[in-house]
Amino acid sequence: MKCPRCDSNKIEVIATSPVGNVWEVYECMDCFYSWRSTETPNIHEKFKLTKEQIDNLPVIPPVPPLDK
Ligand SMILES: [Zn+2]
Repeated sequence: MKCPRCDSNKIEVIATSPVGNVWEVYECMDCFYSWRSTETPNIHEKFKLTKEQIDNLPVIPPVPPLDK
């Protein structure tokens, strides 16, 4: 299985349906995209991510320096 947003194969099951065994929720460990097993997510080209883009994403809000 591959992440629909960044194509990573580091996918983990983060939840299963509380009633019955109907669905699971998967999460990508690289970009934190998550989706349910019953969906077939289709990510628009504009919203896809590469490893380089993830590494260069701005942090919001910025982390202030530690006090000395
Ligand atoms: Zn991903």
